[in-house]
Amino acid sequence: MTSIVSTPIAYDYPQQNAAGGTCTAQAWAKTPPQLHGTEKAAVIARIKQLLIEKDAALVAHYYVDGDIQDLAMETSGYVADSLEMARFGKNHSAKNLIVAGVRFMGESAKILSPEKRVFMPDLEASCSLDLGCDAADFAAFRALHPDRTVVVYANTSAAVKAQADWMVTSSCALAIIHQIKVEGKKILWAPDRHLGRYIQEQTGADMLLWNGACIVHDEFKAVELEMLMAAHPNAMVLVHPESPQAVVDLADVVGSTSAMIKAVVEGSATEYIVATDNGILHRMRQLAPNKVLIEAPTAGDSATCKSCAHCPWMAMNGLQGILNCLENASGEIFIKEDVRIKALGCIERMLDFTQNHPDLLAKAQHGFVKNIGVA
Ligand code: SF4
Repeated sequence: MTSIVSTPIAYDYPQQNAAGGTCTAQAWAKTPPQLHGTEKAAVIARIKQLLIEKDAALVAHYYVDGDIQDLAMETSGYVADSLEMARFGKNHSAKNLIVAGVRFMGESAKILSPEKRVFMPDLEASCSLDLGCDAADFAAFRALHPDRTVVVYANTSAAVKAQADWMVTSSCALAIIHQIKVEGKKILWAPDRHLGRYIQEQTGADMLLWNGACIVHDEFKAVELEMLMAAHPNAMVLVHPESPQAVVDLADVVGSTSAMIKAVVEGSATEYIVATDNGILHRMRQLAPNKVLIEAPTAGDSATCKSCAHCPWMAMNGLQGILNCLENASGEIFIKEDVRIKALGCIERMLDFTQNHPDLLAKAQHGFVKNIGVA
């Protein structure tokens, strides 16, 4: 049984259309100034020097600017999905972590590593899923369903995680929820309704869903995707499960950012249509330079707006912001200790599960990879 629970989405301003649709153009995020030439080279050199001097490691998400991803790789930092970012930050010996991503990623790093100082280029870099799941509203929702195991997506605040039994990322959600279902438990899921619906379909679990959405993935358009597929009949279609069902239903591979990169690197196809934030194309091009990558459509006849398939909050991460973290200790993450302790449990449960059950994770991937023969 799947139910949808409506909740207001705080970030959505009056331009919201009559159907309740959202779009990236409506987000309030700001973009940092772009650096060029010698100025950019000087900032990068200074960051590299300070990362060493301050005993800091740079951890970046696949969706941030390519220059930041390259900087992380060149300085023995890491570029990854949110699961591997959390694991890397926890296991790294550096005293300071610079997290280039969105707020919940910095919070997860701090929750796991309270002894480290965690900084972000811009603390206002949020996420529509996080903003759309207020901790007090969620507590009220949870109180109505005390019989359910509470599973939250990584894209939530520390205050929401503090109320959860499990945290999951898109890399491990299917395996963990399948396991909870095997144990005979019912689930309360938040906040992404598309990912929740997809997991429910794949596992058959009894899930009650919060009504949140990612403003980037929510924009992918099935009608235009079908037209693009007709123009590229041999292309493999890769879709992130935060996308609407009609888009997911067209996919050859449905998976996390890491699974999508793996599909491009290992896939036998020459062309790939990619339905996720276009920041991921930077890493895909580096790892599979001979593959042709085509962005899935977010605009067209069936679109409600002109959107760009790029997260406005991920775009707030800039080189100057990273330098500010290192030079001025700006953008530090602080979490109340009682909240941190409560939130820690659900994250550690996920990390333990993924470490101890690689077999279940691999098995669950077959649910995500719908056309494994082509992959
Ligand atoms: S891409 Fe979507 S899910 Fe990811 S941070 Fe941006 S709004 Fe959140």
